[in-house]
Amino acid sequence: MREKVFSAIFFSAAIVWAIATLVVIALSGNLRLSKEALYTIVTASIVGILIIALIAVMISGWIADSISEELNKIDWDKPDESNVKSEFLPLIERISKKNEQIASQMNELKCEHESRDRMRREFTANVSHELKTPLTSISGFAEIIRDGLVKREEDVNRFAGNIYDEAQRLITLVGDIIKLSQLDEEALPVKWEDVDLYEICSAVLEQLRPVAETRGIELELWGESTVIYGVWQIIDEIIFNLCDNAVKYNRDSGFVKVTIDRFDDRVEVAVRDNGIGISPEEHERVFERFYRVNKSHSKDIGGTGLGLSIVKHGVAFLNAEYHIESNLGDGTRIKVVFKNKLRNDS
Ligand code: ADP
Repeated sequence: MREKVFSAIFFSAAIVWAIATLVVIALSGNLRLSKEALYTIVTASIVGILIIALIAVMISGWIADSISEELNKIDWDKPDESNVKSEFLPLIERISKKNEQIASQMNELKCEHESRDRMRREFTANVSHELKTPLTSISGFAEIIRDGLVKREEDVNRFAGNIYDEAQRLITLVGDIIKLSQLDEEALPVKWEDVDLYEICSAVLEQLRPVAETRGIELELWGESTVIYGVWQIIDEIIFNLCDNAVKYNRDSGFVKVTIDRFDDRVEVAVRDNGIGISPEEHERVFERFYRVNKSHSKDIGGTGLGLSIVKHGVAFLNAEYHIESNLGDGTRIKVVFKNKLRNDS
């Protein structure tokens, strides 16, 4: 800074000085000055330049010192309390605003960190609980068989069946936990590619058809081949969980309608059922980990409480959105909006 102030003072004064000297020399013919007088003028101008340089050094030093002295007076943590000259007040105002911004960002980060921490702790506690329940049942059934308390063959088969069911529940649960934590950590080995939503929906409905038929639930798919750029595995998981729920939480002889609508800038996949429905106050909560509206009913029908969390995280991973419309007794409609580039878009 000192150099810049010096240059500004020195060059402006030197230019004025040089112009004045040149004017004098130019007029020297008219003024009929002697050679000695001219020599004296040139010498005086050189000495003058040197004096200007000296003054510039002093003034620039003085200006730089007074600025740095004012800057040093600023208390960067509490700039408002700094006793500085009025020229520095706009700077003080900007520092205060920046400090406020930093403080609010730090606060947000702290809150986010705390809430993540709390979620992690809750998740660990929930996982332990969810794992313990089927393991306790398996251990209990096995113990009864081991101690020879089950005599009849059909009872042995029934107990073995119970052990098998609980083991299957554990496998599903562990599978869902792995999927969710991979989505959480963004550690899923994903491959972005062209994915036909119609193909996925159709395969998912075929997979669910045998279970749906046992309860007379009709499965319908509306739309046509629609290809988006996405991750097959995640989209399959989202659509499977939505359709699986639409069947699980349906009534006998109900229906599940899947529609694919293509718009200029997006594709919407909606899964609608006329099952038991979800009351509006539960809409947000059902997407939380392990949250079930009716815990025992969900467990009876093989729910882990993680299906809609996987949907939520999968949708976020794909930069998509979800919307839920549902009322108790009126069925449920969950729509996923994919904003990814369509294959045919340039
Ligand atoms: P679960 O494995 O228990 O089905 P989800 O995360 O998939 O867990 O769903 C959370 C809860 O939301 C379910 O336990 C159920 O109470 C409710 N739910 C989800 N989908 C539907 C639906 N289509 N109709 C009614 N209730 C639903």
